[in-house]
Amino acid sequence: MENIYDQKGRIFDIQRFSIHDGPGIRTIVFLKGCYLRCRWCCNPESQEYKIQELTMNGVTKTVGQDITVRELMEELEKDRMYYQRSGGGITLSGGEAMAQPDFAEALLRACHNYGFSTAIETTAFADREVVARLIPHIDHIMMDIKHMDSVKHEAFTGQPNEKILDNARYIAEHASHLVIRVPVVPGFNDTPAEITAIARFAESLPNVHELHLLPYHRLGQDKYEGIGREYTLSHITPPTAAHMQMLKETAERESQRLTCHLRVQIGG
Ligand code: SF4
Repeated sequence: MENIYDQKGRIFDIQRFSIHDGPGIRTIVFLKGCYLRCRWCCNPESQEYKIQELTMNGVTKTVGQDITVRELMEELEKDRMYYQRSGGGITLSGGEAMAQPDFAEALLRACHNYGFSTAIETTAFADREVVARLIPHIDHIMMDIKHMDSVKHEAFTGQPNEKILDNARYIAEHASHLVIRVPVVPGFNDTPAEITAIARFAESLPNVHELHLLPYHRLGQDKYEGIGREYTLSHITPPTAAHMQMLKETAERESQRLTCHLRVQIGG
């Protein structure tokens, strides 16, 4: 790689002072572009790599900007004190950070050069070569497993799940810390049988001790109209607290039935 600080990438947001996307206080860098098209996606403006316009409440803004790692590090440096005091750092999110592998690798390496802890939120729908390149530079991986049935996975996300499940096993074997997260979406994966299957898979992964169940929400719904798309899940409602608790207990029972490795929680 040439000078990593000259590497350019495309992002659509930077969010400071986040406490839900990895340990401690973190700055989240949202990379543009994703291979999936999850129907519940709360960042639909993240999916296309191309720079777009988003109109909300009569205001139109440009979504997406090209930036060098050097420029980004200047921004990330501002909160160094908070990372240090809280055990936080930098999280790459998206979109799918693995869809911009050169930029993601350069940024992760730069973060480590600066002494910042690194994390990624990913679906790991990426070539193995990309996954293997990035893992050594990531301290915490939060990976989505959305469904164990590939046909249903493809129907709701636009892609089958085999590559994801293969990569999950590889990541579990090679990463320093992997958390499995499940977006719980009514009508897609919110039955005890579906959550049991995911818990069984997570339980089978070496070095995985946490399973996070993330209830579906509608926070991104208005953005679909804002980029000229239809939101196709307006007929469903978020799962109730009681339903999430039942699913949590279901996953815990499956874990206990097997090797009892998993700590299951609702939310990230
Ligand atoms: S993987 Fe994430 S960013 Fe990509 S479409 Fe699905 S929810 Fe959206």
